[in-house]
Amino acid sequence: MMIKPVDTSFTKVLSLTSDESLRRRFMVLDEPIQANMRFGLLLEVLDKVAEEAALNYVNRFYPDARVVTAAIDNIVVRHVTDMSRDVHFKARINHVGRSSLEIGIRVEQPGGPVRHIASCYFTMVARSGVGEGATSVALPGLEYTEEIEKQRADKALQRRADYKQQQALLHEPPSREEFEMLTSLHTAQDEPGFNGLLASKLTADAWERMYPEQENVPQKIFGGYLIRRAYELASICSEQVAPNRPIPAAVNRINFFHPVRMGDKLHYTARVVYTNGSLICVEANIERISRDRTTKAMSNSCLFTFVNVDEELQRQPVPQVYPTNYGEDARYLAAHRSCQGLIKNRQLV
Ligand code: GDP
Repeated sequence: MMIKPVDTSFTKVLSLTSDESLRRRFMVLDEPIQANMRFGLLLEVLDKVAEEAALNYVNRFYPDARVVTAAIDNIVVRHVTDMSRDVHFKARINHVGRSSLEIGIRVEQPGGPVRHIASCYFTMVARSGVGEGATSVALPGLEYTEEIEKQRADKALQRRADYKQQQALLHEPPSREEFEMLTSLHTAQDEPGFNGLLASKLTADAWERMYPEQENVPQKIFGGYLIRRAYELASICSEQVAPNRPIPAAVNRINFFHPVRMGDKLHYTARVVYTNGSLICVEANIERISRDRTTKAMSNSCLFTFVNVDEELQRQPVPQVYPTNYGEDARYLAAHRSCQGLIKNRQLV
């Protein structure tokens, strides 16, 4: 019997209303401020939910297989989280490829009306075996009977195609308008008395070693932990340009390239790559250095967008940042395109 997307449904509830210590754990500040949810921890929960939803499916066919996160497509934050309501994570498999799965997660807060926090899409890959000997496994596909399920599967394929197209564009020359935008940013830097913010100065970094503790706790999800740390550093970095308070507006994209192993040293780097109006884009990368120090590789790359707001959550402007060298131009342009895409499709204003 074939499995339908609805049969893969998985829901997790964060009981903020009844569990005092849980609520405290998710708070930014121990004060009744607006937008008080720790977004980094929310990402950690999302990754865990995506893993469980994927694993429930994969283990029906391969009881010993595991799943790893390959990528997180854009996540636009629709509403800030209300700490006086529970948070529901409703996950379902939208599409199954050869060994990959797209998990959709709708994050909502019940009540009248229901508050839609975000819709998220994770690409997970099923693997069997451990370490260097791990191989991907071939998964059976889903059966689609409902129209909405077919649409979601189509959208999953579309998201994958869009990302490939975006990647291909990175190797193309900029358009005329893009070229003019970059030229004006460089010309401004040549003016006498220029005192704008240079992108090269807006960075933050951190180091961390990975201990067996992280592996031994079965509930602790590595991918989620890494992106939480990357997000928290990005948030700190964004404060270098935000005159008010930067709160998360979107995750543009997160890629997982190389697995992190016990004993690795991790180098997190964050940099403000782009600003526009009240928006700030911060790129956060994680580089792993193996225990024997012979291997260095980028394990993760993330692009986060923050919005600068006042105490009433009204958007406030952010100063322009200026890229100087080729790499900074490329990052500026990539973030610009990514934000334009989000603004066009999903009402990120
Ligand atoms: P959509 O993907 O454009 O349909 O956007 P939605 O916000 O409606 O849903 C986001 C994702 O969450 C979907 O792609 C589904 O994978 C999942 N999802 C949506 N509704 C439900 C639900 O009622 N239950 C469960 N388990 N998952 C849901």
